[in-house]
Amino acid sequence: MGTCAYKGGGVCGEPAWVRSGQGMCLYHAAENADDPLGADVWGEARRRYRTGQADFSGWQFPAQGGDFLGVVFESPVNFESAVFAGQAEFLNAVFKAGANFRDVFCRGEARFGHAVFEQEADFQQVTFHRSVMFGAAVFRRDALFNRVHFRQANGFGGTVFHGLADFSETVFRQPAVFEGAVFHRDAVFRGAAFKQEAKFIHTRIRGCLDFESAVFDGPPVFSNIVLDGGAHSVLGLDPALRGRLPV
Ligand SMILES: [Zn+2]
Repeated sequence: MGTCAYKGGGVCGEPAWVRSGQGMCLYHAAENADDPLGADVWGEARRRYRTGQADFSGWQFPAQGGDFLGVVFESPVNFESAVFAGQAEFLNAVFKAGANFRDVFCRGEARFGHAVFEQEADFQQVTFHRSVMFGAAVFRRDALFNRVHFRQANGFGGTVFHGLADFSETVFRQPAVFEGAVFHRDAVFRGAAFKQEAKFIHTRIRGCLDFESAVFDGPPVFSNIVLDGGAHSVLGLDPALRGRLPV
């Protein structure tokens, strides 16, 4: 029995698991989802983040057996290309260093409410198959949500973005809700696709709000939006939609 065949960034080194059709280890094998050993994946994840080894790139997290509720990640975490077969629970989690969630696939709900990201948070190209909540989360550095696919409800209610918030080319299939969110720097939605309403209600923008090449299938709602830079700080918005901005 050789070692894991996973090739995404670095060598895994774990023994190949007999049930994996692709010669993956237990942590990288999609087959762990319906196996009693699946619980061991979460156990190993806990052991690793407690010892500062938070490289979960390409891991397959089974639906049952664990979560990251309230976990304080002291070192950089890497979930790149990981798959959550069920719920991805990060409520109240604290990321003291960088958080890499690039290309993650969430089959279940994803919950990042009240999470704190002390350094850059990279969610580029994530697919959120079910609803995702970032309510009251705090991003102290840049938040990258480029090319994310929000298939179901998404909530950024009361979310605070201290750095750049980049949603370029992101697809919102359900209403995009930024009610009460605060953007201390630029909020960028270049080329984003809003398939339903985009709700910027009581949202505060201190930098620019950039809609260059964005497509609104549903009309944006700007009620009680606070634009520190005035209407001039809203870029790329179709003239027909500019009338919706406060004067
Ligand atoms: Zn592996």
